[in-house]
Amino acid sequence: MKAQGYVVHSAGAQLEPFEFDRRQLRPRDVALEIYYSGICHSDIHQAREEWDPAIFPMVPGHEIVGKVIEIGSQVSKFKVGELIGVGVFIDSCRNCSSCMAGLEQYCLEDMTGTYNSIERDGKTIAFGGYSNRFVIDEDYAVHVPTNLELAGVAPLMCAGITLYSPLKHWQAGPGKKVAIMGLGGLGHMGVKFSHALGAETTVFSHSPEKEADAKAMGADHFVLTSNASELKKHRKSFDLILNTISAQIDLEPYLQALKLDGTLVVIGLPGKPYEVAAGTLLGQRRSLAGSMIGGVSELQEMLNFCSTHNILCDVEVIKVDYINQAFDRTVASDVKYRFVIDAKTF
Ligand code: NAP
Ligand code: ZN
Ligand code: ZN
Repeated sequence: MKAQGYVVHSAGAQLEPFEFDRRQLRPRDVALEIYYSGICHSDIHQAREEWDPAIFPMVPGHEIVGKVIEIGSQVSKFKVGELIGVGVFIDSCRNCSSCMAGLEQYCLEDMTGTYNSIERDGKTIAFGGYSNRFVIDEDYAVHVPTNLELAGVAPLMCAGITLYSPLKHWQAGPGKKVAIMGLGGLGHMGVKFSHALGAETTVFSHSPEKEADAKAMGADHFVLTSNASELKKHRKSFDLILNTISAQIDLEPYLQALKLDGTLVVIGLPGKPYEVAAGTLLGQRRSLAGSMIGGVSELQEMLNFCSTHNILCDVEVIKVDYINQAFDRTVASDVKYRFVIDAKTF
């Protein structure tokens, strides 16, 4: 199947138009027309090869919503015409303990990423969502509720699930004090979910102009981190802190903001190691943890939660030829709060 997309040919190069083939449908495959595709900071890290060596040519994009246009002979989960969502992975081994537990993102044989990965045939480069068509095995796609505005749904497929999953895992809710570090694409979803789950929610941000938005999204408190003394006031305060910051930072003052038995979860992935002071961890029996996206069933649960609570990403919808500027503005923390590509413009 012919597809139009945007590609990056080498680390840090500009993205440019690209025509390529998606695979012919296998019996359990679903083809979709993409409506919207979000721009995640992970797309930028990978297109600029800020993590491990990357696979080029690369068509980024793993926040995808669209409509089913064709189904394989054995597909039972979707019908033509239904809304469908695709997230950060398109396959996994299906047999390991993680996959059996619905935690495909932690597959012991590694998940197959939606892009910057090789499919499980060992040779096909997976091309992602900056495109107008997609093909996926039905087991790795989810149903999109029909009552939500679709541009704001697309980023839920990564930014949404990546904050929903740790908030649920570490039991954010009434009586808990939660802080979200960084009010970006991920962080603003953390604020909305934490508030909806009933936790007292604080934003740690280095952007003073975001305070009003943070409060409108449900934050109870806003702490400007560029003023070091502000953070110090919050020592030994929080049950749970979620770090969504894309840049390398000093975790120390944030770890100190954890109370006894509190946990700081690393979600942002700047690509370089953090330094950790052992004394800060053992001082209050604090934990430093990590969390990566969520499994297929939790992705569906999160979308249903959004449908019930009317939760969406705040988005700036762009035409495809704006992608390169959108990358630069995202790195400058200058987006409210996620760029989403209108796939009609490919
Ligand atoms: P984003 O929209 O660019 O947001 C990142 C936020 O970090 C910014 O809005 C800004 O918040 C803060 N920030 C940026 N530069 C900073 C600096 N120099 N100092 C202090 N704060 C800074 O990015 P995103 O799409 O939300 O992604 C965030 C990170 O999570 C990325 O590293 C991405 O790769 C990673 N990620 C991880 C997972 C996972 O499964 N764990 C999934 C998706 C993405 P303020 O302006 O409020 O300070
Ligand atoms: Zn992402
Ligand atoms: Zn597995």
